[in-house]
Amino acid sequence: MDSHTVFISLGSNLGNREKALKDAVNSLSPDVTPTAFSKIYETPPWGYDQQPTFLNQVIRVKTALPPFDLLDKLKSIEKDLGRRPTFRYGPRLIDMDILFFDAIVISSERLTIPHPEIENRAFVLVPMMDIAPDFIHPVSCRPITNLAKDVSKKKIKEYQPKEEIGRDHA
Ligand code: ADP
Ligand code: MG
Repeated sequence: MDSHTVFISLGSNLGNREKALKDAVNSLSPDVTPTAFSKIYETPPWGYDQQPTFLNQVIRVKTALPPFDLLDKLKSIEKDLGRRPTFRYGPRLIDMDILFFDAIVISSERLTIPHPEIENRAFVLVPMMDIAPDFIHPVSCRPITNLAKDVSKKKIKEYQPKEEIGRDHA
């Protein structure tokens, strides 16, 4: 069975945000197995200001699912966890984006990998630094450490979780 290494970004800015991150992680099994967890960060909204602050986290997972099947799985978890359609960059209970999928490059209407906004988003690069600082972006060929130098990190605050991160997945 082919096993892929994938980085997924999680974000929530509605309801019990910490629980939403945890529920999202717990919903991945059995097809998708988390293997590393970044710290959780509290971050200002991006793209549209008039909304609550986000909690963001990046996880590394192993899976045999191909990219589009993984996207379908993430979209269905978002729906099961109660995410309702809003507008682009609007408030959400949970957002799950595929950042990297091995060193694959995909550019289609439904799926772009690597995620096209990685280089612009400190809320993705800071948590990536926790778990994969040496990972090389397959398009720009720059390591995460190098990409992270180009974004302002001052508004990305470490969040103290009430429950231990990844406790169920040790
Ligand atoms: P946002 O852009 O704010 O994350 P959504 O989560 O609603 O908004 O995603 C909109 C669409 O983005 C999804 O329906 C999906 O088809 C598409 N998409 C493209 N590339 C990716 C990716 N790498 N990860 C997740 N969704 C993606
Ligand atoms: Mg999304």
